[in-house]
Amino acid sequence: MSIVALRDAVVLLGRFPALSGVDLEVGASEVVLLQGPNGAGKSTLLRLCAGLLRPHSGRSVVLGHDLSKSRAAVRRSVGLLGHDTALYDDLTVTENLQFLARASRIELTAVGSALERLGVSARLHDVVVGRLSAGQRRRVALAGVALRRPELWLLDEPHAGLDQGGRDLVDGLVSEAAADGATVLVASHELDRTLELKTRRVTIAGGTIIADVADSDAADTDAADSDVADSDAADSDVADSDAADSDAADSDAVDTDVAGVAGGRGS
Ligand code: ADP
Ligand code: MG
Repeated sequence: MSIVALRDAVVLLGRFPALSGVDLEVGASEVVLLQGPNGAGKSTLLRLCAGLLRPHSGRSVVLGHDLSKSRAAVRRSVGLLGHDTALYDDLTVTENLQFLARASRIELTAVGSALERLGVSARLHDVVVGRLSAGQRRRVALAGVALRRPELWLLDEPHAGLDQGGRDLVDGLVSEAAADGATVLVASHELDRTLELKTRRVTIAGGTIIADVADSDAADTDAADSDVADSDAADSDVADSDAADSDAADSDAVDTDVAGVAGGRGS
């Protein structure tokens, strides 16, 4: 079974087609690097797969769930690290992860080892998240994803704001997840330089996929990145009426929403 199966998938943000017809099939335990210029649609693609955005048209099936019918089950099953870590600022590091663990019916004892795995030192465990640095928050958010060991990992520029140690941890985490049989979609320009896994590089520009190459023939695909014009034009003054906001109208219990998602809306 494909873990992700998109067929001519269109996602509108307001009236802007952030995805304008994406075809993508990803199988179990594949690691896919999503590349492309700012505004290409990488975050939108990850958020679609996380069940946070409603597909406008086409066919979007993730983990066997048709996203045009129901997105709650997908939200529960995937692990998303978004641009915004969506942790609770007024809860401590430990409380945040315990909250996630409860929502995902995971033993609370797993919290400590997830934090340790991401190098979050014990002296930070009782600090409220609002007082952490950006890099520390990101490590905690990643610990939240690792804690849940999702079948599908969706990491949106996970290296951003991390020091070298943190970057290495991200790479290790991705390798481990893949070795565990999980599927990983990563929007990143860094992973391909460090990761020894067999990966696949998908390049997206202007809301569609313009290149899709397996590791073995990936040698000269960097060109695809740089040639593409920035499709940022729509950024500035577009009303904030995107489908994500309408998630609030979905009547899933709060805890199931939170369970799947370590990140909020991307940029
Ligand atoms: P990437 O992650 O590749 O930088 P995004 O998926 O964040 O790109 O954005 C894709 C496009 O959607 C961008 O051109 C952006 O300007 C546009 N966009 C993002 N949010 C909105 C919104 N709320 N309304 C309209 N357009 C938006
Ligand atoms: Mg983005």
